[in-house]
Amino acid sequence: MLDQFNRKINYLRISVTDRCNLRCRYCMPADGIKWIDHSRILSFEEIIEVVEEAVSLGVDKIRLTGGEPLVRKGIVDLVKMIAEVPGIKDLGMTTNGQLLERYAVALAEAGLNRVNVSLDTTEAKTYKYLSRGGDISNVFKGLEAARRAGLDPIKINAVINSESGESAKKQLREFCEENNYKLRFIRQMSLEDGSFYPVEGGEGGICKICNRIRLTANGDVKPCLFSEDGFNVREFGARNAILNAVGAKPLSGKKNKVNKFYNIGG
Ligand code: SAM
Ligand code: SF4
Repeated sequence: MLDQFNRKINYLRISVTDRCNLRCRYCMPADGIKWIDHSRILSFEEIIEVVEEAVSLGVDKIRLTGGEPLVRKGIVDLVKMIAEVPGIKDLGMTTNGQLLERYAVALAEAGLNRVNVSLDTTEAKTYKYLSRGGDISNVFKGLEAARRAGLDPIKINAVINSESGESAKKQLREFCEENNYKLRFIRQMSLEDGSFYPVEGGEGGICKICNRIRLTANGDVKPCLFSEDGFNVREFGARNAILNAVGAKPLSGKKNKVNKFYNIGG
């Protein structure tokens, strides 16, 4: 499917929950958020309907995100259901890795191809501080489990800001080189202020080659991370919600005061 600027849209990112087991400083307030009511969260069947329509319109790449996708009950079943939709060439997940050790094998068996694991530092204390309580050893164990399970490639997403020191970045580079993880630095962004940057080592944030649309946990199909437009699948139906979102894709996003990273999924 082509948008009005002739960009081929083949990538759907699905936020499966707004809930999370961490409270990263750049993403969520310390005392959490008012979670979306369960009744407004799309069921697996509703998500599959969106996936099927998206695939019929040309999507062949899907990424599950959140919130934290691994806290969504039954996530392995959802992965399996999505993997069984004919036409999907690439099924990935972005996770904070806290629960990855427990799920890696099951996810791979269900049909997940690869993972991006968020890790902003290699130091346990800094990790605990940045994520407000996360245990870095869980991430390391999760990464190992992902490798053993055959998830490939394994990418590390590291959010950096003006306070991130060169030595922290160097340590991350070394850690990723030693372990053959692909490292991507993501400059800390603000949806509200409209500050966004290309992802170093990735394709995100480069508007002229943007191939994505997004589905939030409560069913809004979003044309752009930095757009306030959204077309709810319960209101428009899955196909029209997707077509409207593609039609509304801006050449370049501006600001987004209606979403947060934890509900649009990054
Ligand atoms: N919980 C999962 C995780 O952390 O990987 C998936 C959801 S998280 C919202 C998706 C990505 O967005 C993560 O890599 C995270 O680091 C990134 N992210 C969150 N807040 C951000 C911000 N303010 N600027 C840039 N990236 C951000
Ligand atoms: Fe949770 Fe991911 Fe946001 Fe951190 S970045 S609070 S892990 S959703």
